[in-house]
Formats: sequence, structure tokens, C-alpha cells
Amino acid sequence: MEKKEQLYEGKAKKVFRTENPEELIVSYKDDATAFNGLKKGTIVGKGVINNKMSNLLMQKLEKAGIPTHFVKELSDRETVVKRVSIVPLEVIVRNIAAGSFSKRYGVEEGVVFASPTIEFSYKNDDLGDPLINDYHAIALKLATEEEIETIKKYSFAVNEQLKAFWKECGVTLVDFKLEFGRLSDGTIVLADEISPDTCRFWDAKTGEKLDKDRFRRDLGGVEEAYDEIMKRLSEHI
Ligand code: UDP
Repeated sequence: MEKKEQLYEGKAKKVFRTENPEELIVSYKDDATAFNGLKKGTIVGKGVINNKMSNLLMQKLEKAGIPTHFVKELSDRETVVKRVSIVPLEVIVRNIAAGSFSKRYGVEEGVVFASPTIEFSYKNDDLGDPLINDYHAIALKLATEEEIETIKKYSFAVNEQLKAFWKECGVTLVDFKLEFGRLSDGTIVLADEISPDTCRFWDAKTGEKLDKDRFRRDLGGVEEAYDEIMKRLSEHI
């Protein structure tokens, strides 16, 4: 499988066309951004970790019956994925209060929910990815009611699978962001990535943060945290 012209360059990944119109190649970078691109930096080795972690977890989810865009890992940083049109919603599932949830609702980080929550943001950098509800998403024609139901069902299923897996690794899955896409026949599949950039991972014993919050909040030990979470995954997958 060969890369053809670059279709797109995002904050953390580049996307290339291939000879197959239904498949693309994603290439993961070490570039890191936060706060809608206001904070920029590099996390050395992040691209390799995010590529591998995302692929291992997506394969695990496929086995559990959740369809994903994953096709084949090509190299340390490159993966073949199915071409999708991305549903412009960031889907956030939470098990524990943190980040924007804690800020918005005035809840201390670490408060454990009785059951998981889900929320959507409208993927639109100019608007700063505003929080949006199902009715708004349907009114804006971002997705149909049926697609939203499918997305919710898959998102909670992803949470159950990942929560159980990370528990075995001694890691608490606090929250995470998913993106979904439509294949050419309209089928909804999990797309984008699942990585320390898009999940909050806390060490189950010490509460130490093993994710991008170390970069966002200038906590130091960013590369070490990415290495540690990847090590935990490699030992348990
Ligand atoms: N998240 C993400 N991309 C975003 C916003 C959030 O991947 O643009 C992830 C983030 O890593 C966390 C979860 O979604 O695991 C919930 O993030 P939150 O809404 O608390 O926002 P934040 O505090 O990161 O701004």
C-alpha cells in the first residue's frame, strides 16, 4: 500500500490518499496542541504511541462487535484506515468528573458518577467546538436521529470494553473523546484515534495522570507518562 497525495493535515495527523479509493493512510505526528490550538508543543514519540495504542484498542473493539475504520498497521506511525466522512461531532463519555465537566458544573475532579455520561460537541474550530445536544445536531443536519442512536450505543459499548481493559492494566479510564464516520454505504464506524491525547488515564493506585493533561497543565513528565501508559497496555493486551 503506497501513500499518494496528502489530503489533509490536522493538529496531530496527516492523511494521504492511496490507490484504493475506499482506503486512506493516516500518519501520526509528535505535534501536540491544546485549548483549540492556542498551546503548541512536541511530545517526542507520541505519534508512535498513539498509532499503536489506537490500533490495538480498535482491534479489541472490533472483536467486541464495534465496527471501526481500522484496516492495517503499516509502520510505527502509519496505518491504513477505511475512508469515511466524519460526523462533525466530538462524542465525550465520562466515568469521573474532570476537565471541562468539573469547570462547567463546579464539581471537584475525581467525583465518580453512578453511571457514565455522554455529551456532544459540534466539531467546528471557528466556534470553539461548542457543546450541543441531540436535537441541535439533528436540526443542524450533522447526523440523523438514527445515526445519533447508533453513535450513543457504540460509545457506551466502547466505554464498557475500555474501562474493563484499562482496569486490568491498573489504570482508571476517567473520560475520553470519540469520533465516528460514515462509510460510502452510510454505515457508522468508529474513526479517528483512541490515545492519551483523547482519553484521561489515571493510575488506579496513585491517581497519577498518564495522559495529555500533563502537557495541557504543564505538569512535566509528559513523554514518561505516554511511555508508561503504552507499557501498561503492551503488558496486558
Ligand atoms: N478531548 C479531546 N479533544 C478535545 C476535547 C476533549 O480528545 O478537543 C478529550 C480529553 O482528552 C478528555 C475528554 O475528551 O479525555 C473530555 O475532555 P473535556 O471536555 O474535559 O475537555 P478539556 O478539559 O480537555 O478541555
